[in-house]
Amino acid sequence: MSTDPNCIFCKIVAGQIPSKKAFENEELLAFHDIHPWAPVHVLVIPKVHVATLSDTGPEHEAMLGRMLALAPRLMRDLGVTGGFRTVINTGRDGGQEVYHLHMHVFGGPRPWVKG
Ligand code: 5GP
Ligand code: ZN
Repeated sequence: MSTDPNCIFCKIVAGQIPSKKAFENEELLAFHDIHPWAPVHVLVIPKVHVATLSDTGPEHEAMLGRMLALAPRLMRDLGVTGGFRTVINTGRDGGQEVYHLHMHVFGGPRPWVKG
């Protein structure tokens, strides 16, 4: 499996940096964002290192579908009942800060800190 030793999300996958996990299987990991913008703010990542959405290809399509499909299940498990927002920031102009593909899932009662 491809990992980047300098990537903080690869280190979270490896357990070298602690995280508050919300879901895990052999392919995906979901954990709570360290600086939440909403009452519930989870990041869904592939365990394999893929830097950005622009670095995905046909071989990632099924995994991308499973990332998206995990969102409603996660929110339901975390008690979010009023809807949620999914966001993937891509590249510099997309505002991406961590270069390991991740999908933000925001939920919980408003007002939110941001977004
Ligand atoms: P981006 O701007 O790249 O879409 O979002 C990166 C997100 O990762 C930010 O919301 C930031 O708070 C979160 N983040 C960065 N480092 C860590 C970390 O070490 N642990 C956790 N749980 N979240 C992190
Ligand atoms: Zn990585």
